[in-house]
Amino acid sequence: MLPLEEAQARLLTHARSVGEERVALADAAGRVLANPRIVAAVDVPAFANSSMDGFALHASDAPGVLRVAGEIAAGVATLPSVEAGTAVRIMTGAPLPPGADAVVPVEDVAESDGVVSVPSPVAAGAFVREAAHDTRAGDEVVLAGPLSPARLAVLASLGIGEVDVRRRPIVAILSTGDELVAPGDLLRHGQIHDANGPALAAAVTDAGGEPRLLERVGDDPEAIERVLRTAAGSADLVVTSGGVSVGRHDHVRSILEQRGGLDFWRIAVQPGKPLAVGELDGTTIIGLPGNPVSALVTFELFARLFIRAMLGLTGDGRVRVRAKVSDRIPKDGARRAFLRVVLSATDDGYRARPAGGQQSSQLRPMADANALLVVPEGTDAAEPGMGYEAIVLEPPS
Ligand code: AMP
Ligand code: MG
Repeated sequence: MLPLEEAQARLLTHARSVGEERVALADAAGRVLANPRIVAAVDVPAFANSSMDGFALHASDAPGVLRVAGEIAAGVATLPSVEAGTAVRIMTGAPLPPGADAVVPVEDVAESDGVVSVPSPVAAGAFVREAAHDTRAGDEVVLAGPLSPARLAVLASLGIGEVDVRRRPIVAILSTGDELVAPGDLLRHGQIHDANGPALAAAVTDAGGEPRLLERVGDDPEAIERVLRTAAGSADLVVTSGGVSVGRHDHVRSILEQRGGLDFWRIAVQPGKPLAVGELDGTTIIGLPGNPVSALVTFELFARLFIRAMLGLTGDGRVRVRAKVSDRIPKDGARRAFLRVVLSATDDGYRARPAGGQQSSQLRPMADANALLVVPEGTDAAEPGMGYEAIVLEPPS
């Protein structure tokens, strides 16, 4: 059994960045910039402007009674100048006129018959947003990570309407097993619904990839090889589930071994020991175990990392916290366990309780869990009161 970090490192040696494509800013949410470093071509804002609705004036004229000599709305280009003893009505975002060095908010003055009385002193620069106070032309702006609403706003403010982003890696997903039936179809005795297909497709999207959910195949080595080769020809990564263990009808691993290249098989992780990773026709194949919980956990630990690496992102993008566990949860002493837990915040830090049974066929606790509790090799249980690392999958309550 390969230790987790070693297996992850070996997998990532296969990862290549995907190419780039140009998209409109409006379509760029969640995408990753091909080059996160941008040199600003313009000052933002390009001109000094008012941060309040009020009156632009020269600070040395306050306090005093000033003649209102005009008005400037946001977006106006022709500006009246502010002479000594006068003020100009100004709106939020409107350019500061020549002669003014401060703004006094409308709430702080009294106005009547074309004059405004300013009762208190005003500091030079008050309520003025200086040109380039957000970004100066020539500044390097680093926008790493998927484009969030705020990062999109920065790009827009810099005048950028289209961006070069990484193409979404295409990830083919193949469920294998004679017993599998499409969700929605009737089961004969002995059959089960394919839970991994839709689950892994969603996990691909969540990781930033583009899923291609393939038609299930039975435990037929020729059929599996044919489908794998077709998928390998058109996808950046192929993720299979089932058929990697030691059963007589487990063919995925032996196809990699005999027809492609098996890089490694079996990892010291619970659940998910039989994971197999290899290559076929130059494309990486991640063979996940069939049990749905094992498939999702090993997707999280391997496929998610790989998809993010193809996008130029490091790590799994998850938040980790320390959590004290409420109950004893037994595990295999030889493997690192990723237990399905419900994390909640308390005055005494985070607390984790088992989300339910921890068998790899028990899907419901996986659906109820908001975190995976990481319990190291060399211990045969998570012990009550002890603190462990938790990988946060959904915000804790
Ligand atoms: P395998 O890895 O093929 O030995 O499968 C291990 C277990 O996972 C068996 O009980 C399978 O029936 C089950 N299984 C395999 N593939 C799926 C799937 N796509 N959806 C739900 N269960 C599956
Ligand atoms: Mg099987």
